[in-house]
Amino acid sequence: MTTESWHERSKTVRIDGRAVVDGKRIDAVAGARFDCISPVDGRKLGEVARCTETDVDLAVQSARAAFEDGRWSAKAPAERKRILIRFADLMLANRDELALLETLDMGKPIRYSRSVDVQLAQNCIRWYGEAIDKLYGEVAPTAQDSLALIQREPVGVVAAIIPWNYPMLMAAWKIGPALAAGNSLVLKPSEKAPLTSLRLAELALEAGVPEGVFNVLPGYGDEAGKALGLHMDVDCIAFTGSTRVGKQILQMAGQSNLKRAWTELGGKSANIVCADCPDLDAAVAGAIGAMYFNQGESCNAPSRLFVEESIREAFLDKAMALMPNYAPGDPLDPETVMGAIVDATQMKTVLGYIEDGKAAGARLLAGGRAARTETGGLYIEPTLFDGVDGAMRIAREEIFGPVLSVLSFTDLDEAVRQANSTHYGLAAAVWTADMSKAIRTARRLRAGTVHVNQYDNDDITVPFGGYKQSGNGRDKSLHAFDKYTELKTTWIQV
Ligand code: NAD
Repeated sequence: MTTESWHERSKTVRIDGRAVVDGKRIDAVAGARFDCISPVDGRKLGEVARCTETDVDLAVQSARAAFEDGRWSAKAPAERKRILIRFADLMLANRDELALLETLDMGKPIRYSRSVDVQLAQNCIRWYGEAIDKLYGEVAPTAQDSLALIQREPVGVVAAIIPWNYPMLMAAWKIGPALAAGNSLVLKPSEKAPLTSLRLAELALEAGVPEGVFNVLPGYGDEAGKALGLHMDVDCIAFTGSTRVGKQILQMAGQSNLKRAWTELGGKSANIVCADCPDLDAAVAGAIGAMYFNQGESCNAPSRLFVEESIREAFLDKAMALMPNYAPGDPLDPETVMGAIVDATQMKTVLGYIEDGKAAGARLLAGGRAARTETGGLYIEPTLFDGVDGAMRIAREEIFGPVLSVLSFTDLDEAVRQANSTHYGLAAAVWTADMSKAIRTARRLRAGTVHVNQYDNDDITVPFGGYKQSGNGRDKSLHAFDKYTELKTTWIQV
C-alpha cells in the first residue's frame, strides 16, 4: 500500500477501547476511560476503558471459571493446537489492520509493524500451538514396585502485564505458551499501547478460544496492574517492563498468594567491536541498525558500543555516513525506518538524557534534537555520542530511545569488565575474526543472549531473557513452558 492509502485507511480503522472479559466487549465497571493519543501526529484515536480492581476481579473470576470447568484446560492438546493455528491464520488475514493499529498507537514504522511485529507475533502463536501436542511427560527411573509419572499441568489463571514497545509481540510471547499449555489468561497491555492486544482477544474468540479463557484489561499500572499483582486468585504473573516495576511485581507476589512471578526487564546492552572484526562495514551496520531499530525503544538495544581505539575513527566515519538513513519519517510511509517516540513523557525522558550527556562532557556527533515537530507528532533524531565515560548516566541507565553511547577500549579484558559493570544482563555482542577470542569473550559476558559477529539474529526457537536485574525466566522457545506449567508427580503402587 502507498503512504496515501495508509493515511486514508487510518481515518476509518475501527478503534474499540473496551475491555474483553468473558468473551464480551465491555466498559470498565466504573465507566472511566482515558484518551488514546497517536504519537504519529498527535491525533486522538479514541477512548480506552480505564480498568481498576473491580474489573480485575471480574476478569479473574471469568478466567478461573473457565479454567475450572475445563473448557480449554481439559481440551486435548491437538484441539488447542487447531484453534491456536486458526488464531494465527486470522492474525495474518487481518495483518494490515493489526499493523495499522500498532503504528498509530505507538509510532513504529508501518513497514516493520506489518513485516516484523505481525509476522513474528502470529508465528509465535502458531509455534506454541504446533508444539503443544508434541510434548511428552516422563516416567521416573524408580524401583520396580512403583511407577512415578512426571507430567506438566497448566498453572491455572495467568496474569500477563506487558510494555508498549512491541505491544503485539510481547502479548504473543505470553499468549502463545500460556494458552497452549491450557491456562486461562488475563492480559493487561500498557496504557500507552493497548489497541492490538484488544484486537487479538477478538481474533482469538473468532478462532474458537472459549469465552473467559483470554481476557484483556486495558488500564494503568498502579490500578489494573497492581490489582493483578496483588490478586489472591491469580496463580502466575508474567511481567515484561522496567526493572523498577519488576521489583514491585516480585514484592506483590510475596505480599499476596506467592503467585509464580516471572519478570522480563530492562537492559543496557554492550556491543564490543574488536579491531580484528571480520567485516567493519557489517559491524557498523549491525551496531547502528540494531540501536535505532524501533526508535531505540528495544530492551536489548546495543546502547553501549565499545570500539577498539585503533579502529574508532574509521568506525565512526562509517557510522556517520549511515545516520541520514535513520532520519525520522512519516510512520505511515512504507519507506520510513525510524518512526515516532511513544508519548510526550518518553520524549521528555530521552531528550533529558541527551542534555545530561552533553553536560557530562560526551561529544555529540549526530542528532540530539526533536524532529518533525510541525507534524504534531513526537520524533527524535538518531543521536550518537562519542567520548562517553563509563560513569556517565548515558552509559549506565537505560534510555529507551535512539541514543547510542560510544566508549573506546585498548584492552579487551577491560572492555569485558566494563560491559559487565551494570546491573542489567539482557544481551551483549562481540565482533572478532578470532573464534577462540569470540568464544572466550562470549563466555565471560554476563547476559542472557550473546551475539558473535552479528546483532540481528532472533528466532522463536531460542529463549529470551536476562541475567541479573534484567529479570528471571525466559520467554520464547520450549523453555517458556516452564513459566506456565507445574510439574506433577504421580506415584502408583505396582
Ligand atoms: P513499565 O514498567 O513502566 O510498564 C510495563 C507494564 O507494567 C505496563 O503495562 C504498566 O502499565 C505496568 N505497570 C506499571 N506500574 C505498575 C504497577 N505498579 N503494578 C503493576 N503493573 C504496573 O515499562 P514500559 O515503560 O511500559 O516498558 C519499557 C520497559 O520494558 C523497558 O525497561 C524495557 O527494557 C522493558 N522491556 C523488556 C523486555 C524483555 O523481554 N526483557 C521486552 C520489552 C520491554
